[in-house]
Amino acid sequence: MGIKTVGLDADDTLWHNEKIFREAEQYFVQLLGRCADNEIIERTLFSTIARNLGLYGYGFKSFTLSMIETASHLYNKVIPSSKMREIISLGQSLMDKPVNLIDGVVEGLEALRKNYRLLLISKGDLVEQNRKVEKSGLKSYFDGIEIVSHKDKPVYEELLKRNRVDGNEFVMVGNSLKSDILPALEAGAYAVYIPYDITWVHEMAEEPYDNARYFKVDKFADLPEFLKMIDHKG
Ligand SMILES: [Mg+2]
Repeated sequence: MGIKTVGLDADDTLWHNEKIFREAEQYFVQLLGRCADNEIIERTLFSTIARNLGLYGYGFKSFTLSMIETASHLYNKVIPSSKMREIISLGQSLMDKPVNLIDGVVEGLEALRKNYRLLLISKGDLVEQNRKVEKSGLKSYFDGIEIVSHKDKPVYEELLKRNRVDGNEFVMVGNSLKSDILPALEAGAYAVYIPYDITWVHEMAEEPYDNARYFKVDKFADLPEFLKMIDHKG
C-alpha cells in the first residue's frame, strides 16, 4: 500500500466524547422533568439539535444553545430563571470535563509515529477542540492538527492537498462512517473504521463493504499491528 501518513479522528477515536453528551441529555431531561414527558423533552432536544447543526456546527456551545431553545419551546417561551441558570451551568460544565483517553491510545500512537506521519483531524468548534487536544496530552504525537467544521469529500481533498499528501499514501482512521470513512474513501484515501460503543445518530451510515480500501478494526490498540500487516511493514 505504501502508506506514509495516518489521519486520526479525535472524539471517540482517541478519547471518550459521546458519553458526555448522552449524560448531559439525561441530566437535561431531569431538569425539565416537570414541564413535559421525558420522551417529548428528548425528542424536542433531538430535533432542535438536528435543525441547528448547519447553523451552529458541532460541540458543547451548539448543544447548550439547543438546550436553551428546547427549554424555551417547552416552557412556552418563558424559562424560569433558575432553570435557565442550571441549563447554562450544565453547558459550561461540559467544557470543563476532563479528556479521558480510550484504552491503548498512548501506546498505539507511540508505535504509529515510528512508521508514519500523523495528522489529527477533528471536526467541531475550534476553541473546544483545541482545548481538548491540549488537555489530552497527545499533541506532541502529531505532525499536524487539523480542526474542521465538517468532514466531507472536498474537505479531505483540500486537507490532503494542503499537507502535500497523496490519497494513495494516506489512511484515515475514525469511529464515524459518515465523517471519517466514507468521505475519505471518496477522496481517494484508505480508511480504517474503529467502532465506538455509542454512535450519535447523525454519524450513522452503512459500512462500505465493497470498497477495497475500507478496513475495520475492533479497537485502537490493534491499529498499529493492523496497519503494519496491510501495509507490509512487518
Ligand atoms: Mg469521532
